[in-house]
Amino acid sequence: MDLVLLGAPGAGKGTQASLLGEILPLPRVSSGDLFRAALANQTELGLKAKVYMDRGELVPDEITIGMVAERISQPDCAHGVIFDGFPRTVAQAQALDDLLGRMGRKVDLVIYIRVSTPVLLERLAGRWTCPKCGRVYHRLYSPEKVQGECDDCHVPLYQRDDDTPETQSRRIAVYLEQTAPLQAFYRERGLLVEVNGEQDIQAVHADIVKAIQKARGEAA
Ligand code: ADP
Ligand code: AMP
Repeated sequence: MDLVLLGAPGAGKGTQASLLGEILPLPRVSSGDLFRAALANQTELGLKAKVYMDRGELVPDEITIGMVAERISQPDCAHGVIFDGFPRTVAQAQALDDLLGRMGRKVDLVIYIRVSTPVLLERLAGRWTCPKCGRVYHRLYSPEKVQGECDDCHVPLYQRDDDTPETQSRRIAVYLEQTAPLQAFYRERGLLVEVNGEQDIQAVHADIVKAIQKARGEAA
């Protein structure tokens, strides 16, 4: 199954992708994580992407699409992928259709996690991330067991450079301009299921699992 998680920055895509990864035998492909890994390795791609990430802008389509194409050509992606943060433009969505089409696959389901802007801002402001595994925490809603330390890797958590108040607002504006049109793109194709992302993490997860079961024709 190829599943896309769609939603604004802070909607909970990464959180839900991790939970789904525990129950579906599919890899999670997060374009944001791929850029951050490239940057940590100081690759040319990472350094190019950083300029856009720091401003809260989207990395140009040709760079992003090439990077994701390379990732999903790897053997662990042969039976499907959980896409987190990709596609983010109509051109990326069309490219994804082409890439999957060449593998005899298609996007099977798009989950749109709906969250209002004030809630997004509160979530981004309280987000702490593990630099090693990428797991995200929230000081109020999903705290780590030992303050400041990843539960799994036991390394210090950090706040992302692009989680500053100015960049957060820019990223949400960019989402509304460039990514929100994907809601109509996938709705017209009968692939979009909307879930209320303002519920607690487990309730959002339960709604997503129900949508997946329905798409697969399984009883809930
Ligand atoms: P995204 O990947 O869409 O940018 P994240 O999964 O990183 O979003 O979540 C953003 C922040 O909000 C994190 O700190 C996460 O712990 C928290 N969070 C995610 N989902 C929920 C939820 N349903 N309720 C409260 N906080 C949440
Ligand atoms: P994320 O981790 O999904 O919040 O992404 C962090 C940043 O990486 C974004 O603000 C963009 O600058 C960049 N990025 C991630 N995914 C994409 C994408 N699909 N298209 C363009 N830029 C992206």
